[in-house]
Amino acid sequence: MRVAIIGAGVVGLATAHALQLRGYEVCVLEAAEHAGCGASFANAGQLAYSNATPLGSPALLRQAFGMLLGRAKGVSVGIGLEPRYLRWVSAFLWQCLPHACRRNTTDLARIAERSMQRMAIYREAFGEEYCHRTTGKIVLLESIDSTAETLQALTRYEPALSNWQLNATHGSYAARDEVGDARRFTQVLARRLGEQGVVFMMNTSVEHLQAENRGWRVHTNQGDHQFDKLVLCSGNGTPELLGKLNIHAPVYPVAGFSYSFPAGAHANTTSVTIAEHKIVFSRLGELIRIAGYASIHRPASARLKHARQMLAVAKSIAPQAAVYDDQQVPWIGFRPATPSSLPLVGASPLPGLYYNFGHGMLGWTLCAATAEQVAEAVER
Ligand SMILES: Cc1cc2nc3c(=O)[nH]c(=O)nc-3n(C[C@H](O)[C@H](O)[C@H](O)COP(=O)(O)OP(=O)(O)OC[C@H]3O[C@@H](n4cnc5c(N)ncnc54)[C@H](O)[C@@H]3O)c2cc1C
Repeated sequence: MRVAIIGAGVVGLATAHALQLRGYEVCVLEAAEHAGCGASFANAGQLAYSNATPLGSPALLRQAFGMLLGRAKGVSVGIGLEPRYLRWVSAFLWQCLPHACRRNTTDLARIAERSMQRMAIYREAFGEEYCHRTTGKIVLLESIDSTAETLQALTRYEPALSNWQLNATHGSYAARDEVGDARRFTQVLARRLGEQGVVFMMNTSVEHLQAENRGWRVHTNQGDHQFDKLVLCSGNGTPELLGKLNIHAPVYPVAGFSYSFPAGAHANTTSVTIAEHKIVFSRLGELIRIAGYASIHRPASARLKHARQMLAVAKSIAPQAAVYDDQQVPWIGFRPATPSSLPLVGASPLPGLYYNFGHGMLGWTLCAATAEQVAEAVER
């Protein structure tokens, strides 16, 4: 049976692997020249199994006006009247309410737990090749909770913190959390899958999908192809594809930024998230990746300004964590975000068409689990 995966990000490749292991004839169609060039390109690299929380929360809701006025730390939201945006924002606000946030947190934790177990096959097979480390993760908290340890205590796990300029007095530590370079992961996995017979059609943009008697016809810029089943792993490209089938995909691109610099004299090894500023410092090999922020529905010039602001904040917090270069052009990535932060995974309303998209801020952390979940659905 021939199954096509549309999209070669972390989600598409993990899905291709899960299906190839089950004996399917797998073909990956990708608009870009290489795998991992979308949201997976230069993300923060955290495999945040212990701390997979949704973007929408009561705390974020309290900052809503600040965000619109550009005063909230790390999050900036534009005003827009486009129906797609208004629909997403209203659904997102609903997901910020306490009961929805609790449910989404529980569901994300369950997927993350499964993902941690599934990632073991990759850690063992080629962890070095994607800069994998079980570094543990520190979150410096905005408000003290029951898991909090003092900053002083946290320096046991990450001595570099004693040289950083931090407002936070407390944080949490998760020993089992990991880091890895998501783009390298996609490249290594694509190579291995290619050697094992998975077909990759790169530079192939899928224009529309057409159900046929016994499967699906996929119309692309490189001609038409026929498959028995399709899995959409197309991140931010999914609303357009599903729109042509009159299906609404509740995904909106939430921009974020990253910079990668050589490690400095006070570089961290443990990955560090500064909740107050929504900035992450991750160690990927010899590099420090500084990433984060959320910029929603803002023009390109405002996004660039926001990215520069993130760099200035990172420098003020950890001046010697990295060898900073102010001239570095930021990477601007777009998280394919659903209002709930939960991905859409499994069978669609149409026979033979499956979903695995909308992983938002957590696609790297969750991809191994959702790949298994959709492969199980395809098999059913
Ligand atoms: C700044 C930032 C930091 C982040 N940090 C983390 C982190 O630390 N941990 C974590 O777990 N997650 C993190 N994320 C989120 C994570 O990167 C994403 O959730 C993940 O990359 C999504 O993977 P994907 O495969 O769904 O999407 P993508 O990587 O975007 O892949 C989708 C692919 O589909 C292709 N495509 C789309 N439409 C079509 C079409 N019509 N035809 C052919 N191809 C198509 C695209 O070209 C693209 O290559 C971060 C994101 C950002 C922006």
